[in-house]
Amino acid sequence: MHEVEKYIRSIPDFPEPGIIFRDVTTVMKDPNGLKIAIDSMIDKVKDLDFDVVVGLEARGFALGTPIAYALNKGFVLVRKKGKLPCETISEEYDLEYGTAEIEIHVDAIKPGQRVVITDDLIATGGTVKAAIDLVERLGGVVVGCVFLMELAGLKGREKLEGYRVDSVVAYE
Ligand code: 5GP
Repeated sequence: MHEVEKYIRSIPDFPEPGIIFRDVTTVMKDPNGLKIAIDSMIDKVKDLDFDVVVGLEARGFALGTPIAYALNKGFVLVRKKGKLPCETISEEYDLEYGTAEIEIHVDAIKPGQRVVITDDLIATGGTVKAAIDLVERLGGVVVGCVFLMELAGLKGREKLEGYRVDSVVAYE
């Protein structure tokens, strides 16, 4: 068992009956949990050659920014539709529960920039695949995706064939 696992709270039947929600707020509120989580994610990507971390709203912001700061990279926000103030491109995708649309500023990534995408958790992989599509439409190169948690049974990795995918804790 990874050290960070003891800080993750599992909530049965949220947001729907039958779903076990893996809650990262209990990791982040604890100084030791936060440190282990960020350090473990940094370990997964520190040897990659890249320029910028792209974080997915909202927990991907909280985890991605300290990773970018520690490795001296920039940080780019991918947000839910309607939140970014300047010109954007967007992608629609299927969620584990429903559908959604995410956006990125058109000038957030320069062609050829090397990108690591981060979020707290990968489930079906739909969110991160949409983010990959946004980055690639801007000419960015996705060199890796890093998550604190992975719901391995939902086979999100299958949507990301050909991309490097790392997670710290995997649940079946
Ligand atoms: P996917 O698109 O891979 O199916 O879902 C991943 C997205 O939904 C991520 O942005 C993640 O934050 C959120 N998500 C889905 N299930 C959970 C969960 O059990 N715990 C947490 N913390 N986030 C989840």
